[in-house]
Amino acid sequence: MERIYYPDGVTRIADPFYKCVCRKCMHFFWAVTNGCRCPECGSDDVFRSFDKGEAVAEIERLRESG
Ligand SMILES: [Zn+2]
Repeated sequence: MERIYYPDGVTRIADPFYKCVCRKCMHFFWAVTNGCRCPECGSDDVFRSFDKGEAVAEIERLRESG
């Protein structure tokens, strides 16, 4: 398997990132730790998953629930 690195030469592209969705402002972002807060509004009510599909589903669920 081919190894691809970010410009820092240390972090592999394949390393898992959390796909995070802020439940307060619905901001979508990536994070390397599960203790992250929303960089937009500072809320710690954040949905986290390694699966982008789950994160997208969470955004849609939040939109539907208003
Ligand atoms: Zn937010």
